[in-house]
Amino acid sequence: MKLRVVVVGIPGVGKTTVLDKLSSRLDGARLVTFGSVMLEEAKRRKWVKERDEMRRLPVGRQRQLQGLAAARIARMADDVVLVDTHLFIRTREGFWPGLPYDVVRALKPTHLVLVEASPEEVSARRAADGARSRDAMTREELVEEAELGRSFLTVSSTLTGAPMLIVKNPEGRAESTADQLASLIRDVAK
Ligand code: ATP
Ligand code: AMP
Ligand code: MG
Repeated sequence: MKLRVVVVGIPGVGKTTVLDKLSSRLDGARLVTFGSVMLEEAKRRKWVKERDEMRRLPVGRQRQLQGLAAARIARMADDVVLVDTHLFIRTREGFWPGLPYDVVRALKPTHLVLVEASPEEVSARRAADGARSRDAMTREELVEEAELGRSFLTVSSTLTGAPMLIVKNPEGRAESTADQLASLIRDVAK
């Protein structure tokens, strides 16, 4: 069975870390970071220089980039495609869906995976990650983001019919989070 696994979670929860490990465990899986595809399109238009500037663009521009990325990813026909993305983006104009109907329809996920960690873990990971320009949040804002994630997830699941799996990525355990997903994907792909 061909699999298109869409992996989501709030910024700094560890999606990219877990997915890098997961893709190295799965022969022939293609890993695509939705934001990297958007970034290529944004740079081509000279709208931004780096990825963390994109969420500060007017939503209309972000929407254009999102549609272009979704169309490119939709054309990827590998047996297993792992998509690293977001359920929602915190923009100046408000929380904005990462998987509106046209996008999730184009991506055609067979599985939706929400990665979670405690607010304290996410806060510490954001603070420690010098590679990115992350927004500092209060504990309440992080709890709100986690709650919003679950509600956006149920919408994507209902729109697509894909099951929604919630996995924890506990401190120091990214390897075992990746192991858990790898064994599930191997079973389902048979
Ligand atoms: P974004 O949505 O902004 O791209 P992300 O969800 O992809 O964020 P990562 O970049 O993978 O998050 O991880 C954020 C930071 O947390 C990195 O410094 C990473 O090394 C660290 N990290 C990820 N998973 C764990 C873990 N299980 N334990 C400890 N640190 C972790
Ligand atoms: P990431 O490296 O996953 O944080 O992606 C970089 C940036 O791309 C994010 O901060 C968002 O601005 C943007 N992005 C990623 N996925 C989506 C999506 N599905 N919809 C809109 N923007 C997205
Ligand atoms: Mg990431």
